[in-house]
Amino acid sequence: MSREGLLIVVSGPSGTGKGTVLDMLRKANENVRYSVSATTRQPREGEIDGQNYFFKTVDEFKSMIEKNELVEWVQYCNNYYGTPKKYIDDSKASGIDIILEIEVEGAINIKKMYPDSVLIFILPPSFEELQRRIEGRGTEKPEVIAQRMEKARREFLEVDKYDYVVINNNVGLAVEDINSIIRSEKLRYSRNTDIRTQLGV
Ligand code: 5GP
Repeated sequence: MSREGLLIVVSGPSGTGKGTVLDMLRKANENVRYSVSATTRQPREGEIDGQNYFFKTVDEFKSMIEKNELVEWVQYCNNYYGTPKKYIDDSKASGIDIILEIEVEGAINIKKMYPDSVLIFILPPSFEELQRRIEGRGTEKPEVIAQRMEKARREFLEVDKYDYVVINNNVGLAVEDINSIIRSEKLRYSRNTDIRTQLGV
């Protein structure tokens, strides 16, 4: 059956383990592609241009906005982040499922533009557990931990804008949950309106 690819948006504040879940999903599911965003933030160690992000100067990023090359963009922690339009439209048209890992404001904008997109929010088992995970990294100062917790709390308030919530208590189960969501979404009648023609009924 030929159908459009799913547009899946995954969000979750830092400490939810979103990165680990998506890495495992990537390995377990070869049919899913990941959208590469453009950003003005500096590459972190090991990050590759065109693979993790398209790293841009502020002028280059603004020129992408002017040329309407981004479906959505936000300013987040003093940097710009945006989703390139062409890759999404090409993937959707060729039936490839695509995952966007973006923050809440961008996710809400994507839903407005693509109402059939699927929004998934990854949550920690509890707020206390989130604090333990952020502290457990041992890399952040107490005031940075407090800032992250406050940011996470504000992001959690937007969870009602999402279609699905996945609690990351166990990475393997969280990946299974996301795969179940993908499978079920593909079975929606609204994505299979040509089913009778296909069956010759
Ligand atoms: P980081 O700098 O840690 O890679 O990303 C910071 C935040 O920006 C994360 O929540 C990430 O999901 C989000 N982000 C990355 N790319 C995009 C994008 O294209 N659009 C939006 N709205 N958020 C993004």
